[in-house]
Amino acid sequence: MRIKKIILSFFFFASFSSIFATSLNVRILTTKVIQSFIFSPITGTYDVYGDGVLLLNSDTPGIFQLTIEKDSIILKTFERTIGKYASLKMKSKQLDGAFKIKSVIPEGKVRTYEDDVTIGLTADKKQFLLINNIDIEKYIAGVVESESGTRTSLEYYKLQSILCRTYLLAHINRHVLEGYQVCDDVHCQAYLSRSVDADIKKGVYDTKGLVVVDDDLNLITAAFHSNCGGQTVASQDVWATPTTYLKSVKDTFCLRQPHAKWKRTIPMEDWKAYLQLKHKYPVDDSLMLNNATSFTQTYGRAIYFTDKDLKIPLKIIRADFQLKSTYFSVEQEGESVLFNGKGYGHGVGLCQEGAMRQAKLNRSYKEILNFYYKDVHLVDLSALNYFRQE
Ligand SMILES: [Zn+2]
Ligand SMILES: [Zn+2]
Repeated sequence: MRIKKIILSFFFFASFSSIFATSLNVRILTTKVIQSFIFSPITGTYDVYGDGVLLLNSDTPGIFQLTIEKDSIILKTFERTIGKYASLKMKSKQLDGAFKIKSVIPEGKVRTYEDDVTIGLTADKKQFLLINNIDIEKYIAGVVESESGTRTSLEYYKLQSILCRTYLLAHINRHVLEGYQVCDDVHCQAYLSRSVDADIKKGVYDTKGLVVVDDDLNLITAAFHSNCGGQTVASQDVWATPTTYLKSVKDTFCLRQPHAKWKRTIPMEDWKAYLQLKHKYPVDDSLMLNNATSFTQTYGRAIYFTDKDLKIPLKIIRADFQLKSTYFSVEQEGESVLFNGKGYGHGVGLCQEGAMRQAKLNRSYKEILNFYYKDVHLVDLSALNYFRQE
């Protein structure tokens, strides 16, 4: 087992050494168009660099307002204007530095982060481009909290940490042409702030450097969703790409969890019009109409709606009506149709609520990982340092 792990690590190193690093450049507040904000340290002290030159060492009290004026950034303290710059960097003098950012224009909530921040402008010079230069494991803790909240158990956090780390490494240079590596939006992974939760931090550091690979030693697509409704979906049924590890799995652990069920009612006329106009469904045929108003998924999840010849993908209906999942039945209720749904999310990979339940039942993170992903292996990135030092 040990030998297998080392061999795996060795091949992994050969394939992925270029992406192995300990720090990361994450664009923060990506979706906000910020024109003015306040920076202040929470822990430790910060040196301030303007256009690469040390302007203020960390002995200076560290609360600053930054605004945009004619293609430049104006840096001010409460007492005075310090100057005009193309870019700035706030660099922590300590290893545990943390800071706050409060958007002033437009007014926004305080967000808290760790390590350093580089402050520039977007190409059109109309808004700030804020890049958090952060240790990867600290970033993972922030993502785990943003993606799964603070109410579950340590064993679950270990698993979520491994998945978020795997996802990160598989997408690590997604935004490299824009001057950073990942964004903080769901496009990459949600990263709303640092995490100060003791269990989340322990979950991250207990699994430090662990990632998941498939049989061919490729990082897996670490897909996860809120609740599968009782059965997960194979990747090819949602994204058209088959994988060896994203199979459909029966999951009873999530059935009594918060997002296990949903309902939605829409007028019958809207439903008929939608099927006819968008999908050329023959609603004037009474038998076909009956099928379209009495659809069930009793024996596992379907891919297509009611009639296989027409091949109407359930994922299209889900997107058009913004339904919580594709795992629904349809029945007539007077002048309306009622959607009775199960689960929340695309249904591929890990079911978060099922996994949280399994963790509560004392299943280990490895057991839960192997329940949702088939034929996968955990690889220890920290072993790579061993090879690197050889
Ligand atoms: Zn992104
Ligand atoms: Zn589930």
